[in-house]
Amino acid sequence: MSLGLADGMKVRSRFAPSPTGRLHLGNAWTALMAWLDARQRGGSFVWRLEDLDPARSREEYAEAAMADLRWLGLDWDEGPDVGGPFSPYRQSARMELYAAALADLREQGRLYPCFCSRAELMAVASAPHGLHLEGPVYPGTCRRLDARERAERAQRKPPSIRFMLPRDPVVFHDLAAGPQCFPPGAGGDFIVKRADGVFAYQLACVVDDAAMGITHVVRGFDLLDSTPRQIHLYRALGWRVPWFAHVPLLLGTGGERLSKRDRSVELASLRMRGIRPEQVVGCLALLAGLTDRPEPVRARDLVGRLQLPRLPKGQVALNEPVRKALGLH
Ligand code: GLU
Repeated sequence: MSLGLADGMKVRSRFAPSPTGRLHLGNAWTALMAWLDARQRGGSFVWRLEDLDPARSREEYAEAAMADLRWLGLDWDEGPDVGGPFSPYRQSARMELYAAALADLREQGRLYPCFCSRAELMAVASAPHGLHLEGPVYPGTCRRLDARERAERAQRKPPSIRFMLPRDPVVFHDLAAGPQCFPPGAGGDFIVKRADGVFAYQLACVVDDAAMGITHVVRGFDLLDSTPRQIHLYRALGWRVPWFAHVPLLLGTGGERLSKRDRSVELASLRMRGIRPEQVVGCLALLAGLTDRPEPVRARDLVGRLQLPRLPKGQVALNEPVRKALGLH
């Protein structure tokens, strides 16, 4: 299949964790898929720290995450610890870029201030749009305010800033999840800057992926709903849209999402129990269908075996052989 890249253009892929907890098996699984895909394409792998939310981000988690993935046998060519041509690799140090993109969108008349409270938003019945992001679909209440009302309300409380969704549908081919089609308006107008001044993930992620020349975004299936929003931002800002691959989420045996509270699936806890990184990689490889037994294997020995379109769709549960191999109950 054509990669859609101009001749000689190098593949660049990234892992972009938020340092809000220790990495667990699910994070390791996503990172392994992204890393294998990048290495198979002969590409660069970039580590970007998504530490925009000061209330939730902790430096110790950032450092632990890098140590955990190194232990697993992954490496990266650019990142907060090794530097690189697109420094800095932490979002908290890249605010000017987000501000510039916001100014561009504002000049184009694509933004408006929103004064709705969380309670008001939650009271809006969630429309059956099939796109459930952070709460109900925004009905566009503040889009309709005139300049006088905006000025008046801004005196009373600082607004969040929303991006006005264009009326085009979004259609793209996901390298793992297959063809995707989101109808016009899916998800509603979304926030690009919070009322407390923090830039939203959607904006920062697009700005950084574009600025860092990322050609392939390989990430968890839970972010598939963010992609149409991000594609609208790429289009509005006039930037090239990268390839996307949303890999299945790793779930617990009972089909529940792996929780940051379940310490037993943390990489650090597996390591402390004497599990070897090759055992962990062997289990992840089995779940991805790259091998047929949970036998120890080094990450680098799997390069060449991953086929994104052949991954299970949507989700994968930790099965009995894997639980046994990792001593999980
Ligand atoms: N920072 C996001 C997270 O930890 C990932 C963003 C992305 O890969 O686009 O869930």
